[in-house]
Amino acid sequence: MSEVIDSPESPQAPESDTKMEIDWVRCIPFYLLQISAVSVFFVDFTWMAVIMSILMFFPRMFGLTGFFHRYFAHRAYKTSRWFQFVGAVLGGAAIQRGALWWASHHRDHHLHSDTEKDIHSPKQTGFFYSHMGWFMTKENYNFKSDRIKDFTKYPELVFINKHDVLVPVLFFIFCYCVGHFWNGLFDIEDTSTWALTGWQLVAYSFCAGTVFLHHCTFCVNSLAHVWGTRPYKTTDTSRNNILIAFFTMGEGWHNNHHHFQSSARNGFRWYQIDATYMILKLLSLVGIVWDLKPVPKHVVHRTAQAEADQAQQEAENATAV
Ligand SMILES: [Zn+2]
Ligand SMILES: [Zn+2]
Repeated sequence: MSEVIDSPESPQAPESDTKMEIDWVRCIPFYLLQISAVSVFFVDFTWMAVIMSILMFFPRMFGLTGFFHRYFAHRAYKTSRWFQFVGAVLGGAAIQRGALWWASHHRDHHLHSDTEKDIHSPKQTGFFYSHMGWFMTKENYNFKSDRIKDFTKYPELVFINKHDVLVPVLFFIFCYCVGHFWNGLFDIEDTSTWALTGWQLVAYSFCAGTVFLHHCTFCVNSLAHVWGTRPYKTTDTSRNNILIAFFTMGEGWHNNHHHFQSSARNGFRWYQIDATYMILKLLSLVGIVWDLKPVPKHVVHRTAQAEADQAQQEAENATAV
């Protein structure tokens, strides 16, 4: 559970040399969850378990991308108080702590991208630390409440953020119950390929599905700053990566995002599939969300190639004169 510290200058804040110190004992539940992915080998395989795990993967991923990231961290669109709470719960089921903790750290990342102060920069502290070491530290267990005071005014968000174990527990029970009652509900034979059991769905969705979800998300902080293309000359190392974009529903267009952070859209071009934006667009059509921030045309076209072409044109013009 996270605690709120009042300011970055808080006396509780550790000195800089201890900032990277990993809290090995506190992270025991995290290791256990990672190891639990092998539980899929101890339950029966059915295609229904795989399908159900996928069906539970993408909504939880959207909880992170559509809410934790684009709403809570970047305020890229507006919505109602009840729907932002739905988002905090949905994102919480991805088991990456609470919305306020997640979004405040992400705001920090954009503020200090790839500088010494960046909390997860493969350039500064290496791949492992940017992938998962950073959130295992004592330092980053807390979050800076003044980074996210636009949302700390909602007690329900503060509550669910403080008790960040609550949603994962409910999700565990949900997985077990869906699997346990599935066959009886739809009159399916226990030996059918469409059959499920409670522990089977816990293994496939809560354990393996969550671990896969974790590493897809972590790759945005690590791999999307190392591997991919850089159409925009940002001051950081962010890259566009189609593979990460697929699994993270559009977050892999990370160079685009660092170039223009406030947009609800990360895939700037028509061929850069951004599933999160598509869902947000659909939700805006029915009025559940609104004021989606667009990407201005001049921003889309200000690529590194466009700048190089312009520089070359200017050089040619100068030579011609
Ligand atoms: Zn980044
Ligand atoms: Zn961001």
